[in-house]
Amino acid sequence: MRKIIKNGTIVTAADIYNADILIENGVISQIGQHLSTDGSEMIDAEGHYIFPGGVDPHTHLEMPFGGTVTKDDFETGTIAAAFGGTTSIIDFCLTNKGEPLKDAIDTWHAKAKGKAVIDYGFHLMIGEVNDTVLSELPSVIEEEGISSFKVFMAYKNVLQADDETLFQTLVAAKELGALVMVHAENGDVIDYLVKKALKEGNIDPIFHAFTRPAEIEGEATGRAATFTGLSNSQIYIVHVTCEEAVRQIAEARNNGVDIWGETCPQYLVLDQTYLERENFEGAKYVWSPPLREKRHQDILWNALKTGQLHTIGSDQCSFDFNGQKDLGKDDFSKIPNGGPHIEDRLSILFSEGVTKGRLSLNQFVDITSTRAAKLFGLYPQKGTIAVGVDADIVIFDPNSERIISAESHQMAVDYSAYEGMKVTGEPVSVLSRGEFVVRDKKFVGKLGSGQYLKRAKYNISNESEDKTYTI
Ligand SMILES: [Zn+2]
Repeated sequence: MRKIIKNGTIVTAADIYNADILIENGVISQIGQHLSTDGSEMIDAEGHYIFPGGVDPHTHLEMPFGGTVTKDDFETGTIAAAFGGTTSIIDFCLTNKGEPLKDAIDTWHAKAKGKAVIDYGFHLMIGEVNDTVLSELPSVIEEEGISSFKVFMAYKNVLQADDETLFQTLVAAKELGALVMVHAENGDVIDYLVKKALKEGNIDPIFHAFTRPAEIEGEATGRAATFTGLSNSQIYIVHVTCEEAVRQIAEARNNGVDIWGETCPQYLVLDQTYLERENFEGAKYVWSPPLREKRHQDILWNALKTGQLHTIGSDQCSFDFNGQKDLGKDDFSKIPNGGPHIEDRLSILFSEGVTKGRLSLNQFVDITSTRAAKLFGLYPQKGTIAVGVDADIVIFDPNSERIISAESHQMAVDYSAYEGMKVTGEPVSVLSRGEFVVRDKKFVGKLGSGQYLKRAKYNISNESEDKTYTI
């Protein structure tokens, strides 16, 4: 069935204009003035923005971690994402040392199958590099369409890779056309600080923040940047939280290193004092890297505005307060690390970014959709509104106000990290490949309708076009 969206204001990373959009067979077939509605379903978007569907490059759905499994899976997680205006996610596929990469990828396919309501791709974790792994990587990229590898510099004895592994991954990625992503914190120093804190009887959630200082995020970011320059490779720093890391990224970029930075909504609007909340409530805000002192927030906003940071990932990794977070009741290091953010990513960035004058509308689209699509080989199929691309569309009311709450959210998790926060602007209807997933704020999608996204290789020329912003 043809659909035609009329009277809305189309916003892409480059343009803002009024036009009708015709959708046929899941793709945008025409954009123009006064398109004929004959034989089409007419959707009136008067007073609304029309954004390309959000691309969330950082989710952990149904992921085993810390002796438990994240609460939201590919069903509740992707429904929540859709309500929040996200139509593509890239989830992290974990691997186990000594096991074929293919097995890990198959495991992740099984998690998503029959559940996802929006399109999804995978990043692949690299925990070790040896001849077997190196022999598997070309097919990971060519056949599985996975063109990004994740390396953890933290979580000692669990997920952490050593420097040799990171460097080898960068070398291989350069050769094969993949983007390396790193969790940049110095896991060895953290391990020492955690042991010391516990020995001194410091067991409360706030010590999660005290044992992971900003300096060691900056150090690891700088180290990763150095390795990237040395190997002439490419890197994407996930969840940047602080001035120390932003400075390392900016300096490396000035030196010509191909380095990109992501931050997350939580670091832009929450701060370290949340971990001090009484009755163990601080555990709701335990994730890594930790929330920082408030002064870092302005630095992150400015870095997004000036192009030192480039994307917003949710780092969705939800655990219930009751029954999961309380694994660390007597020891902060046992609190499962992660929080629920997939649903409110666009709302928070729009409300705090656009309506407060920190970001332009075009920057908002670039940061929440277009840039991630380009970096992770999905552009232009995803990440823009143009003739011939997937009709992943968000019809967004810029004036509606709501209070974020666990009582009204779609995620399965039992609390909201943003409980009581008032936000302006929200998605009203969301289409994935031309079909409504959310219509007038109600779920109308179909479980399993989300398709797996095989992604193109990393290509820096995706980024070379000149972009001018109107601020
Ligand atoms: Zn993460």
